[in-house]
Amino acid sequence: MPAMYEDLQIISYPDPRLKKPSAPVNAVDDSLKELVARMLQLMREHHGVGLAAPQVGQNIRLFVMNHSGDPKDDRVYINPELTEAEGAEDAEEGCLSLPGINANVVRDKTLRMRAVDLDGRSIDQKETGYIARVWQHEFDHLNGTLIIDRMGAVAKMAARKKLRELEEAYEAAHPRPPKPKLLRRK
Ligand SMILES: [Zn+2]
Repeated sequence: MPAMYEDLQIISYPDPRLKKPSAPVNAVDDSLKELVARMLQLMREHHGVGLAAPQVGQNIRLFVMNHSGDPKDDRVYINPELTEAEGAEDAEEGCLSLPGINANVVRDKTLRMRAVDLDGRSIDQKETGYIARVWQHEFDHLNGTLIIDRMGAVAKMAARKKLRELEEAYEAAHPRPPKPKLLRRK
């Protein structure tokens, strides 16, 4: 793996890259394959079910997932589009970019997914339940939406302390430049 991606790590709230809408992938090339390999590695290391490119600081429309933990169930979705939503279901979700926070999120129950895979082939799938839920969670990341944006007011209150801790950790790791001193007019 080239040095370009081997140092990539999962970024956490409130990193601004998580709030940025991602741009379509233009080409499925070797560089993209290397990025996907690193994302799958990080997803496994952190025991995640899915990981979207913005979560490693890459604002492109791509995510990986594995709902079973068996490497042969690795799935890669490039430029995904979700349509034909049916039904609704409420269930708890976590997010690798919001460590320590779980939230109930209402999602569409059944969806159709159209995307491109890592060989550049078209994907056209329909899923119900858990996989459809992962799709929606990861798809949200591509539009800069996190589970805290879909939480109710009460749940957000409950998560406030944890969010503050994440904000403080981010501020400590990314100190802001000192404000320029105001020039006093004579
Ligand atoms: Zn997430």
